[in-house]
Amino acid sequence: MKYCFLILFSLSVFTCEYSFAQNQKETLNFHYENAQTAMQKGDYESANTQFRKILRLGVKLPSEMPYLFSKTLYEIGQYQNSQSFLNKYFEIMGKAGTYYENAQELKELLELQLNKSLSCQYCDLSGYRLETCATCHGEKQLLKKCDYCEAKGKVGCTACSGDGVLIQLGAMGNRSYKTCHQCKGEGINECPVCEGDMELYTYCPNCLGSGSTSTEVICNHTENN
Ligand SMILES: [Zn+2]
Ligand SMILES: [Zn+2]
Ligand SMILES: [Zn+2]
Ligand SMILES: [Zn+2]
Repeated sequence: MKYCFLILFSLSVFTCEYSFAQNQKETLNFHYENAQTAMQKGDYESANTQFRKILRLGVKLPSEMPYLFSKTLYEIGQYQNSQSFLNKYFEIMGKAGTYYENAQELKELLELQLNKSLSCQYCDLSGYRLETCATCHGEKQLLKKCDYCEAKGKVGCTACSGDGVLIQLGAMGNRSYKTCHQCKGEGINECPVCEGDMELYTYCPNCLGSGSTSTEVICNHTENN
């Protein structure tokens, strides 16, 4: 009886997983076909949406998809992402890919675009126009209060726990007192983080210290976009 139940149970888990996988496959095919139709119409924004839906399924991708997605990303100006999918395509398919020739062409086009972005100061590596960081206003760093000493500039001595003296136990259990060498008996030390300044410069967390952030505007690589 127990076995019977177990078998029934595992069978139902199996069918359940099976139909789930089956559903996902159908969903994948649905989006994959939509994406390719959109590409044929030159509607790369829609193709991009469809490909991203496939990625979100978290299933094994169709082997030619990295090229198609890469081409789509190139057309909508996301050059860095495009390159990473193109590399993936070469990695998986080598010369055997249906789109090998197209992929080679795309590789050259991409390099051209990426080089333009690389030498342009107005955009990021994907060719998106940069704007001054709203958090640090281009300063790259932010002056903030020191958290470590709570902006006091001083912290309690860790060697003597702020007592100013160190107690040493002798062999006979006798105690001897010694002025703390670290704080010289003061019980406090200069804050090691802000070095007594009570405030310190930190990297701007918004732009990671670059002073600018990417916009969604595609750059024309001249001063006035
Ligand atoms: Zn910033
Ligand atoms: Zn001390
Ligand atoms: Zn401090
Ligand atoms: Zn540019």
